[in-house]
Amino acid sequence: MEASTTRIASGFVAAFALLALNAAVSYTTLGNLVAANHLVASSEQSLRLLGELRSSLVDAETGQRGFVITGDERYLDPYLNARPVATAKIKELTRLTTDDTERNARLTALEPLIAKRFDQLNEVIAVRRERGMTAASAIVQEGPGKVLMDRIRHIVSEIQSREEVVLATRSAEAEFNAYITTVTFAVATFLNVCLLGGICFLVMRGTLVRRKNTAAERDFNAKLAASLAEVRERNQEVTHMSQMSGFLQTCASSEEACTAIARFGPQLFPHEAGTIFMFHASRNYLELAASWGGADTAEDMFQPSECWALRRGRLHTVAEHDHSIVCAHVARHGKMTEPYLCAPMMAQGETLGMLYLQAKPSAEGVAAPFSESKQQLATAVAEQIALALSNLKLRETLRQQSVRDPLTGLFNRRFLEEVLDRELARLERKNLPLSLIMIDVDNFKSFNDTFGHEAGDAVLRDLGGVLQRHVRGSDIACRYGGEEFTIVLPEANVEIGRQRAEMLREAARELRLVHDGKSLGAVTLSLGVACFPEHGRRREHLLQVADAALYEAKNGGRNRVVVSNVKTLPVAESQPQRDQRGH
Ligand code: GH3
Ligand code: MG
Ligand code: MG
Repeated sequence: MEASTTRIASGFVAAFALLALNAAVSYTTLGNLVAANHLVASSEQSLRLLGELRSSLVDAETGQRGFVITGDERYLDPYLNARPVATAKIKELTRLTTDDTERNARLTALEPLIAKRFDQLNEVIAVRRERGMTAASAIVQEGPGKVLMDRIRHIVSEIQSREEVVLATRSAEAEFNAYITTVTFAVATFLNVCLLGGICFLVMRGTLVRRKNTAAERDFNAKLAASLAEVRERNQEVTHMSQMSGFLQTCASSEEACTAIARFGPQLFPHEAGTIFMFHASRNYLELAASWGGADTAEDMFQPSECWALRRGRLHTVAEHDHSIVCAHVARHGKMTEPYLCAPMMAQGETLGMLYLQAKPSAEGVAAPFSESKQQLATAVAEQIALALSNLKLRETLRQQSVRDPLTGLFNRRFLEEVLDRELARLERKNLPLSLIMIDVDNFKSFNDTFGHEAGDAVLRDLGGVLQRHVRGSDIACRYGGEEFTIVLPEANVEIGRQRAEMLREAARELRLVHDGKSLGAVTLSLGVACFPEHGRRREHLLQVADAALYEAKNGGRNRVVVSNVKTLPVAESQPQRDQRGH
């Protein structure tokens, strides 16, 4: 840009310099031409003057002759006029030839001869006047006039020849000067045109470059704006991602997590409809867990082999349905024509499900294929969801392991104690009752001895199932230890507690036990019932009271329900009775 400006400025300076030089040279050559033309004109004038000089002499002779012959004074007029004319011509010629010594010398020699010739003529005229025509004619015929006149003519001719040579030289010089002037003009004009053309070219190129630069600037600005918009979009995506992660971390279950994902889906993928598919526990198929943006996927469940992303364990994207491999779960849905993407949700080496995104058509009715950054986002979101769901699953498993008894699937004793304390506090506030049933399998030792420990385990598992089935969702069935179980019935009074215990006893008695194809007969239960608040207000106390009732049931002949009949006692007054009981 700057180099071009410098070149343009240099071009202008050169053009001006050339113009000045052109003017100077033209001035000089023109001057020379004018001078040469002056000289030519002067030579031509000299030739003309010589001719006139010669004519004036002839006129003088003619006048003199006429007077001699006729004696008529009127014939003398040409003679009288000729003398001053000839003198003036000689003077003029001398002035014109001052630069040429040769001609000048000849003219100097010519001047006295002409004067002498006029003197001769004058003398003849005087004789004619005084002595008559015969005397005058005799002088003329004598011939000195002719000799002088011939001499004069010769010198004039010489001067004329010399002048003609000078004229020829001067004409050639003038012609040459004219030629030089023309050439100088032509060359200078050509150079100037070239220079101005060059300047024009530079200026136009500068304009073009400027125009191109302006276009490039506009292009750059557009690109800058686009990348700023992209950065802003990425920032928003990161913000939404971290918000979603925060939510997912606090979710207590997979269902809650799916709700959170469906809420954040439209923010993360505003131009796409999305669906989360989760593996069923059997791992045989995937089922719809969450969706947003009006996902037009049709399929609510499909087999893992029907998705390329799940088969290959990596993101699968399809821009045009004619040219790429379309997943079977998508292809089955005939309407599908928009670009889509499947991202497997993998965490800790396990595939939990799949994130499906379907591009939505824009206002013009065209759905853009998934950009590189959109694919990266989909992969990151799928990973994030997988990690959160995997953590949830792990947490659920751990929680299950910590509160459940592995053999029966019932709650364990630690959980019973925790939940009983909580329930007692709650029900005390609400002034509501609670029943506690303590259960012991009758003669279980001999059962074990007869059928083996494994059969005993199977019986305990079956009994666990029976207990679980016969309590409400709000009730808590636990394995207290060994072949002993505890049922907590919040908000159930003594009577309800007793009825429920009776129902459980019946259900167990009717249970037909089979293990390894062998019938194990039936088992019976002894049950002790204690109630809050009438039999005790604290966990330890209630358990002791229920245990005491169970002890009574055993003592009473087993296979029966005994409701405690103790009055509420301060906890401190009651003593542990389990050890005394011995079962
Ligand atoms: P009763 O309660 O009627 O007085 O007689 P019982 O035979 O049930 O008496 P006890 O409480 O002394 O015996 C309990 C037996 O339960 C002892 C043990 O062999 C058996 N038992 C405890 N836990 C398990 C278990 O997890 N699996 C099996 N198979 N047996 C168990
Ligand atoms: Mg027992
Ligand atoms: Mg026992």
